[in-house]
Amino acid sequence: MEDSKDIITAVIMFCLIAGVLIFTGRKDSNKSIEYEFTFKQLKDYFFKKHYCKDCNSSLKRFSKDEFLGEGWTKHPGTVAYSKNYKRTFYLKCPACSRIYTSDDF
Ligand SMILES: [Zn+2]
Repeated sequence: MEDSKDIITAVIMFCLIAGVLIFTGRKDSNKSIEYEFTFKQLKDYFFKKHYCKDCNSSLKRFSKDEFLGEGWTKHPGTVAYSKNYKRTFYLKCPACSRIYTSDDF
């Protein structure tokens, strides 16, 4: 009887801890965004005009955030629980919808 009581206590404790973590994660709208970009890619992306390889229209810039998961930020000196995203930049052709990644610039 003692054992089953311990298990129930453990389950309740786990639910409480998990609940607190989920609550903290939701309450904290802090977004942590990682960028994967070399300086050359950045310069090409923002300062050069790009044209579609298929139809020669000028491309439009857009970015997309990929959700990596929730967790504690790994940056030194800061302690925060946040949603972690990786932001990737793309170029899109408005005419034929072809999408170019930073590797194609
Ligand atoms: Zn095109």
